[in-house]
Amino acid sequence: MDNSSSGDNLLARLEAKGVSRRDFLKVCTIAAGAVGLPAWAGEQMAEKAAGGAKPSVIWLHFQECTGCTESLLRTSHPGVAEVILDLISLDYHETLFAAAGHQIEEAMEQAIAANKGKYVLVVEGAIPRKDGGIYCQVGGKNAIDTLNRVAADAGAIIALGSCASFGGVAAAEPNPTDATGAPMILKGKTVVTLPGCPANPYNLLGVVLQYATFKTLPKLDKLGRPEFAYARTIHEDCPRRPHFDAGRFAQKFGDDGHRAGYCLYKLGCKGPATHANCSLLPFCEVPGAWPVGIGHPCVGCTEQQVAFRVPIHTTIDVERPTAPGTYPAIHPDHSVVGPAAVGLGGLAVGAIVGAGVVASKKLTAESEKHEERE
Ligand code: SF4
Repeated sequence: MDNSSSGDNLLARLEAKGVSRRDFLKVCTIAAGAVGLPAWAGEQMAEKAAGGAKPSVIWLHFQECTGCTESLLRTSHPGVAEVILDLISLDYHETLFAAAGHQIEEAMEQAIAANKGKYVLVVEGAIPRKDGGIYCQVGGKNAIDTLNRVAADAGAIIALGSCASFGGVAAAEPNPTDATGAPMILKGKTVVTLPGCPANPYNLLGVVLQYATFKTLPKLDKLGRPEFAYARTIHEDCPRRPHFDAGRFAQKFGDDGHRAGYCLYKLGCKGPATHANCSLLPFCEVPGAWPVGIGHPCVGCTEQQVAFRVPIHTTIDVERPTAPGTYPAIHPDHSVVGPAAVGLGGLAVGAIVGAGVVASKKLTAESEKHEERE
């Protein structure tokens, strides 16, 4: 990946692709919002990136489906993926690299040497421990050794997705390879975990840019998750929440309640036990593009003890079944409820969604104009 281009070149390249400076700034602002930083922090992140100071990222793949990489690349508008990839210097990534074999191994060693103590290590996938780690080897080295090697000189370490955070699907019972997450291998080191199956790319971008710009990491919970993105449950900011509070539930897939957008709790929704910002920061910059938004119960993928452990359609206990007094009144005649109706917390982050949607629309419009010009 190009690590030498100046900021002017970066902006010129993006503008040539139909992405304006304003849209570039918006992507940075959304990324800042994803980790709880104000808009001015996004502006500083953009300035730094536009100045050519792109953080070096070394990205390791272990036991996984590559879905987290796919979610980064499959944004609804190609311009957004390009902005994200232009904001970082992706110096090693097994999926995206054109090189192979000894060439790619050398590239990793060069990236480590050139950015010692400063690069960001992103881990995608679980690490198998059974039989000396023989079930995941790249270039003759097992995942445990490679992870320890690259983590030793990293400035920041991010476990991206549920597999890297705590084992995910690879660690589901009976866990035949004794798979686990990066924090369990890198004991004593700070590992930012961004669980999700897949993780939201803006949460990753926010952490990377915060580290690159301010040399800090977001405030983490006891599982290493950034509090701003993972402190609240899906249930607290779910657009279907007023239906839950009013006792309106889909009883089975495709029934009238399901078609009307009613609560999915009785279909097994794990939203009440799942901490994540999916409802507020949709995937692919498409409003409503998240499991509950498209009519499927939340499976609890950001929780170590829920996804891949509790059956998808099994209902769970709800800790606080009644709505807090700060929630707006429930109107029984509402069949569909927007995110703005679910409370003050939702409103704050809803602004981020709005900004993302506006940015996405703008990007699309800019691209169409660009295509017309061509
Ligand atoms: S149970 Fe699920 S669908 Fe129903 S309000 Fe909670 S998070 Fe939303």
